[in-house]
Amino acid sequence: MADKKIVLHPANPWAILQDPSLMIEFLQDLGLIGPSFPHMGEPHYKPGPRFDELVRFSTGAGGLARPSAGCHVFLLETSSEPLFLGAGNVQPPLCPRCRAKFMNWSDHLLSWQKNKRQYLWTCGNCGNNATAQELNWRRMAGIARYAIDLWEIGEGEAEPSSELLQALAHKTGENWRYFYYRF
Ligand SMILES: [Zn+2]
Repeated sequence: MADKKIVLHPANPWAILQDPSLMIEFLQDLGLIGPSFPHMGEPHYKPGPRFDELVRFSTGAGGLARPSAGCHVFLLETSSEPLFLGAGNVQPPLCPRCRAKFMNWSDHLLSWQKNKRQYLWTCGNCGNNATAQELNWRRMAGIARYAIDLWEIGEGEAEPSSELLQALAHKTGENWRYFYYRF
């Protein structure tokens, strides 16, 4: 079975989470998460009472009364530097100016790995220079030091509500983005 999830993360790739336990408390108060349980040796959280309002499932999601029943949430704590969080479904990102595809994106990514603060992606079509986070990853990848993973949700099945994104922005002082991860 393929691993799939929505990854929510701050748009600023250098943003850090000062206190993970406060974030967990916040997500519990919001109703996104419920009690924790061990999953593959890590603490995951069951969907909270408001999960199905904070994450909007498409009507095609099996017609279940509670489509989030099999979902679980994981808080990826702060890494020492920004990580590329995409996986098997990543497609070439687009130039933010002309929307040309970076077909050689994996070469760029290797260069970026070596110089995350300063590496610029130069568009082969228009010559624009962009940082990794300025590229349009088409909701298939993202770069961050911490993230909130909503497991067992695939592309087209659901999306985070604006309420959830705004609550996270208000809590952290950062804008938030999301993408669909599939391994
Ligand atoms: Zn371009």
